[in-house]
Amino acid sequence: MKIVLLGPPGAGKGTLAGLLKKDRSVLHISTGDLLREEMKNETLLGQEAKSYVDKGELVPDSLVIKLIENTINKSSEMDQGYLLDGFPRTVSQAEELDVILRKIGRPVDYVIYMDADPEVIVHRLTGRRICRDCGAVYHQINRPPKVPGVCDVCGGNDLYQRTDDNEKTIRNRMDVYLKNTLPIVEYYKNKNILVKVDGTQPAESIQKYISTLLDEKFPQHKD
Ligand code: AMP
Repeated sequence: MKIVLLGPPGAGKGTLAGLLKKDRSVLHISTGDLLREEMKNETLLGQEAKSYVDKGELVPDSLVIKLIENTINKSSEMDQGYLLDGFPRTVSQAEELDVILRKIGRPVDYVIYMDADPEVIVHRLTGRRICRDCGAVYHQINRPPKVPGVCDVCGGNDLYQRTDDNEKTIRNRMDVYLKNTLPIVEYYKNKNILVKVDGTQPAESIQKYISTLLDEKFPQHKD
């Protein structure tokens, strides 16, 4: 399974990636996670990226493309398939990604375009909490953990809120998405690999739908 997850912030890309990963062992590459790791470690890239991430702006293409290229090239697991989450976010990132994937002979099978209403997104993201230990995603109201403050998956007790999940930054991230990222939909539509799903549906239903699609495309190899 070689998939790009595309959609506005809060459409459920991370949650869906988590479910798809359970089903088939594939590499999950989230540029947001990679950038947060760089920021946490205060690397040069992290320091440069921080001002953009904090404001909900896109980190410049040159930096993110280098980051994704390094990650892809050093990952021996790319052969098992991959889930790209949050990349590409501009048409020029999409073009560069094609070049990088062509070089390793692992082109994208499907681009899953998850759409969602802006007000649903604001509600989802303001209530989003993430497990610091394993990255599992919760929502204070829609998807709370069974025991308040404790992760269902790993038992960790630090469920935190991302600093860019505040209403002002969320609205800016959505504007940035409409202006810079939405044009990618046309790019992939023209390549006939775009699959549109309703991001307001439960993640489990979307996962089932995609799994069926993949089983039909690869009946022998559930790659
Ligand atoms: P995410 O975790 O995908 O919501 O990303 C969080 C933030 O990281 C975004 O608001 C951007 O500032 C930055 N970011 C993540 N992926 C990219 C990308 N492909 N291009 C530029 N900036 C990105």
